[in-house]
Amino acid sequence: MTLDKIVEEIGKAENIVILTHDIPDGDAIGSSLALYLGLTQLNKNVDLIIPEFPDTFNFLPGIDEIKKESENEPYDLAIALDCGDIKRLNGFVKYFEDADVKIQIDHHKVNTMFGDYNFVDPTAPSCSQVLIVVLESLGIEITKEIGTCLLTGIITDTGGFKYQGVTPETFEFTAGLLTRGVNVSSIYKKVMQTVSKARFELTKRAMNRLEFLEDGKISFTYITEQDKNETNAGINDHDGIVEMARDIEGVEVSIFLREQEEGYKISLRSNEYINVADICLMFSGGGHLRAAGGEISLPFDQAKEKILSECKRHLK
Ligand code: 5GP
Ligand code: MN
Repeated sequence: MTLDKIVEEIGKAENIVILTHDIPDGDAIGSSLALYLGLTQLNKNVDLIIPEFPDTFNFLPGIDEIKKESENEPYDLAIALDCGDIKRLNGFVKYFEDADVKIQIDHHKVNTMFGDYNFVDPTAPSCSQVLIVVLESLGIEITKEIGTCLLTGIITDTGGFKYQGVTPETFEFTAGLLTRGVNVSSIYKKVMQTVSKARFELTKRAMNRLEFLEDGKISFTYITEQDKNETNAGINDHDGIVEMARDIEGVEVSIFLREQEEGYKISLRSNEYINVADICLMFSGGGHLRAAGGEISLPFDQAKEKILSECKRHLK
């Protein structure tokens, strides 16, 4: 069984690198830190490499131990978390490929299964939840610190316990952490409620230019490099915009474009029936049924037209 092999390989390895997806969110950072703290408990030499992450997560235990790059390459073992496609490994595909053994732990539905061992549960609402099973199998104690990291991943990827993927285990695990004194409410406030000024300004711009199309079934908005510069936006300050538009009554699919060095990053969200992961496959991307992303290298008007016509085809 994959899990047994993973436990065996982790047991054998001495030098381990943990990697996650670029522009990391709470699940990417939370699951990576939880595994980092857990493997340290087992006295492994572990590097967690994340070149850039938002300040929101500065409160997490172990955050100061994150490295921007490696001085210890190559590793016995590389573990990728919360990443369905090797291309998204935060610029460090090399660290992964150069390791003797490669493990992937994830919950993405669209998944290239790029490890030697892939422990992937597409029904889990967050990678952090998938990781609980792995940590338990390794005999790692879920301390208050590890619990805080895992809960951050669970809270952020479930939109604060509200998405469809939430399972009884999500609440059972959270209840267990409460019993052990983890301040669920404070974590929730830090990662879900508090908004930086930059994020607020960026969101305001995106909302001001939001358009409704196809009788309000599609919402469309975008931000440019100039917006990011003028608002001093951090790497994750666009988070939440695509969901805000999705939540408007009558909207089935919310489209959000974010200008990049080359072309645009696409974010799609749907409410009831459109499989946005399928749509994003056409834009070298992927994700989940109701939340997915991709890329498009075209000038703005053409990019908008192409993604709009693709979404229109899926409307009922
Ligand atoms: P977001 O819109 O927040 O960037 O991403 C939504 C979901 O789609 C996330 O689960 C994310 O992992 C996935 N996703 C976003 N961009 C890409 C991409 O370029 N490729 C793949 N495979 N998945 C993506
Ligand atoms: Mn995730």
